[in-house]
Amino acid sequence: MHAVEHPSRTHERKQAHEAARLAKRLRHAVGRAIADYNLIEDGDRVMVCLSGGKDSWTLLDLLLSLQAKAPVKFELTAVNLDQKQPGFPEHVIPDYCRERGVPCHVIEQDTYSVVTRVVPEGKTMCSLCSRLRRGALYAFAEREGFNKIALGHHRDDILATFFLNLFYGGTLKAMPPKLLSDDGKHVLIRPLSYCREAEIAEYATQRAFPIIPCNLCGSQETLQRKQVRRMLDAWEREHPGRNEIMFRALSHVAPSHLADTGLFDFTSLGSGNETVRPDTHAWLGSDANLPGDDA
Ligand code: SF4
Repeated sequence: MHAVEHPSRTHERKQAHEAARLAKRLRHAVGRAIADYNLIEDGDRVMVCLSGGKDSWTLLDLLLSLQAKAPVKFELTAVNLDQKQPGFPEHVIPDYCRERGVPCHVIEQDTYSVVTRVVPEGKTMCSLCSRLRRGALYAFAEREGFNKIALGHHRDDILATFFLNLFYGGTLKAMPPKLLSDDGKHVLIRPLSYCREAEIAEYATQRAFPIIPCNLCGSQETLQRKQVRRMLDAWEREHPGRNEIMFRALSHVAPSHLADTGLFDFTSLGSGNETVRPDTHAWLGSDANLPGDDA
């Protein structure tokens, strides 16, 4: 006769099973993104930007577990920028990395003083702070010869950026899984591009990462970003799965069904004739110089 399992034991077993499934789903999502965009290649030296938030811990953890079974050999180093924010627990990241046997480097640069001096009180500091952080991290990567910089942005960050650009920037652009930095010197990779924020948060709790909050500086994200996040959350609540569909749309773009003449050659579409085309001014005639008409 089988002994009846204690309910708490059953609960624990179920939880362990769910945790294993979540880890597998996230590993799978990261593996898929790496393969789809060729994020990591043989011999890569990858610098993982580790802020100590849930996203960057999850990124490091998943890359470490994939590294063990990857079809290519690559190097991982965790790099943290100590921005000298008041109360920053500087030992947390190096201690954890040491325990896990992960090479780790801390760059010390007091961007906090710069930002608080330059940005007027009450204004959000995140944009300047991020710019300075990027500068410090990229310079370090160049100096130390890392050819890839891994960032912890996930699917929901990418969607939020897409809508911010759409609503306030007038451009259709998001954050790509792989990007050459503006100066052309660094390849930025976002292996969590296919991962949902809610699952990352759950994973970070399960794995008990030592989370360092990003608000030690007392700053807040912009109102616009907050509004976009609220909008996306509300949509997802009302229409489960909508965010996934929208994210999929980012990789199913039909330039011929948008209106960017730089992406699709509308001008020669169906014309079949090589004659010289009248320019915009010729079409507008005397209306060309109407004041205030910039449409
Ligand atoms: S919350 Fe603070 S540390 Fe984080 S990006 Fe904004 S200013 Fe920088």
